[in-house]
Amino acid sequence: MRKIVFATGNSGKLREASEILGEGFQLVPLTEIGITDDIPETGKTLMANSLQKAQFVLDHCGCDCFADDTGLEVDALGGAPGVYTARYAGDDKDFNKNMDKVLYELARLEGEASMASSLGVSMKPFSRRARFKSVITLMIDGEKHFFEGTLEGVIAREKSGNGGFGYDPIFIADEYPGQTLADISEEQKNDISHRGKALRAMAEWLQSRK
Ligand code: IMP
Repeated sequence: MRKIVFATGNSGKLREASEILGEGFQLVPLTEIGITDDIPETGKTLMANSLQKAQFVLDHCGCDCFADDTGLEVDALGGAPGVYTARYAGDDKDFNKNMDKVLYELARLEGEASMASSLGVSMKPFSRRARFKSVITLMIDGEKHFFEGTLEGVIAREKSGNGGFGYDPIFIADEYPGQTLADISEEQKNDISHRGKALRAMAEWLQSRK
């Protein structure tokens, strides 16, 4: 069994990663190596932030570790919230306020688009298309390696479901039309998710170098 630190304080991410990576890995939470505060994330890209988090852990314990950074890109918002996904509605990282802000902005823009079309202004059809992107940085034997995963879908009109975490109640993956990520089971989400893809790529790479 491979022991590896997952640089996250998010219990939802930790649960998903343990499920996806399976029995070959023992994921060590940050609290077990004495990190209890948030790790700084000041980068301008998902890759920079995931590298910053993994480097922080490596500097702290010198142990094998990985970090993921995830962003939600909404086309109608010009790719926002992107790297600012956790703090879209403020520094308190309140996921309900974050989701409300996305729904509010889309309703506002859709209203403007429909007003423009009723006035005969020709515009691109309004789109709720969005995607989650995850970038993982793995630090192993002092080397760094990157793995990525994307999940395509649309933003729902309202929140739905009790599962998952973060923005799951407003994201409808193309694979499960009519249901948000919070409506489907954790197994179904892990099978298709951005983090599932990135973690499986990491696990395959680790198996292949044995
Ligand atoms: P970070 O990668 O921990 O910085 O997360 C950025 C933001 O994305 C946070 O608000 C998370 O709650 C949210 N997030 C990360 N992964 C997921 C996911 O799988 N579903 C929904 N929201 C997510």
